[in-house]
Amino acid sequence: TPVLLWFRRDLRLSDHRALCAACETGHPIIPVFIHDGAVDALGAAATFRLGLGLADFANTLEARGSRLILRRGPAIGVLDEIIEETGAGAVFWSRLYDPRAQERDAEIKSALNGRGLEARSFPGHLLFEPWTVETGGGAPYRVYSPYWRNVRSRDPGEPLPAPKSLPAPAAWPRSDALGDWDMGAALRRGAEVLRPYIAPGEAAAQARLATFTEERIERYKADRNLPARAATSDLSEYLTLGEISPRQLWAAGLAAQERGAAGAEHFLKEVTWRDFAWHLGYHWPRLFTDNWREEWDDFPWDEDESRPEVIAWKQGRTGVLFVDAAMRELYVTGRMHNRARMIVASYLTKHLLAHWRIGQRWFEDCLIDWDPASNAMGWQWVAGSGPDAAPYFRIFNPETQREKFDPDEAYCRRWLAEPFEDPSAESLSYFDAAPRAWGLSPKAPYPAPVVGLKEGRERALAAYHRARD
Ligand code: FAD
Repeated sequence: TPVLLWFRRDLRLSDHRALCAACETGHPIIPVFIHDGAVDALGAAATFRLGLGLADFANTLEARGSRLILRRGPAIGVLDEIIEETGAGAVFWSRLYDPRAQERDAEIKSALNGRGLEARSFPGHLLFEPWTVETGGGAPYRVYSPYWRNVRSRDPGEPLPAPKSLPAPAAWPRSDALGDWDMGAALRRGAEVLRPYIAPGEAAAQARLATFTEERIERYKADRNLPARAATSDLSEYLTLGEISPRQLWAAGLAAQERGAAGAEHFLKEVTWRDFAWHLGYHWPRLFTDNWREEWDDFPWDEDESRPEVIAWKQGRTGVLFVDAAMRELYVTGRMHNRARMIVASYLTKHLLAHWRIGQRWFEDCLIDWDPASNAMGWQWVAGSGPDAAPYFRIFNPETQREKFDPDEAYCRRWLAEPFEDPSAESLSYFDAAPRAWGLSPKAPYPAPVVGLKEGRERALAAYHRARD
């Protein structure tokens, strides 16, 4: 009797606890991926990236004599179908931590158990599961620093090696063709725009981790805020799909630290921010949808997405160099440097007084590393409504930030065509990527600021003081 291995955000063979447990049973393994409502709900770029990840993972499995069975429909129905067709006696999976997936998985587990089938779940895409990290008083953490100290003193365990082979069933069930799922259909910029920026899959993830720990980690703390510099790991999109595990990052960071790499501790800290975001989202699911601090419900955020300033923000036409460079980088590559994410988020929620949810949704549609918890926490942290957030009155000045973090303008030159002579190829590629309906041209004059930086700052502070009083 085969074991179904239901893959979700764990598209890898190494450090995969559910897979190792399935191999230990000695039964044939049928790897399955289900295109269900959770996939329908993904943003355009994330769906495209998932399609590339699935194609790569299917090849990896085939190289080991296995296959990835693709099916579409509600998860329980699809699992039932495959169980019926193959006589499978068990379903294994890695756990997810968002409220909807938790609820769905619990229902599936009890339905399968009710029919006498084995349903086993294993730790998923975090270093530590959200309920396993608690304060001395047994409560979840609301503040990062003590959370970090707790996590730093623990051992997430050694990453597991990939199984040598995956026992195949006597006959394979049918699979959809990935091409029929048309995962790039929702992209407004053509797939050819994003594609060159993506190297999907587990092998590429491991190669990137190796490059990072061999070449970049030493200077990580010093250079990680410079968006023009290749200084960070660029691993977030792999973590999003589970093409690499955080435990593998942790082990590599510790090994670098033992070799004396200066930036290693800081890298571990950043990896822990991602776990912290899931810790918060698990214990307070409103992190994903509402102000984490309820007192912010009275703040006059503007949720009108059709405001010209908000449209200019999305299109990278605010007239503020750093903001526009970052928004164009996002549109072309599906990624944005962390410093730039903070600056564009501050500009939208403070200078433009727009609700953080507008930015959260735009990032959700555009990012290839979209992670619901890190995105929600990032937006709420900058907006001031989140746990352990930056105080609202700390408003980034995007010009000062540019002088500090892009002093030679390399980042702005890379992404902006209009203000510079001899625009870079990447800055011009934005105009090919942008929908025609936006009516943009690299020859048009660079836009005037949609709001003066001083005026926007004062307006935001006034709104804050009014709401507070
Ligand atoms: P590195 O600097 O190499 O860090 C290593 C890993 O640590 C990252 O891959 C990531 O998993 C984690 N990490 C680093 N910084 C953070 C952070 N601030 N919060 C949570 N995890 C972190 N990250 C996402 O993965 N998906 C998102 O959708 C996302 N949305 C964000 C939205 C806003 C408004 C902000 C301010 C930040 C957001 N981040 C998000 C966090 C951060 O910007 C990215 O994780 C980081 O830029 C990824 O680049 P890297 O892999 O080179 O990071």
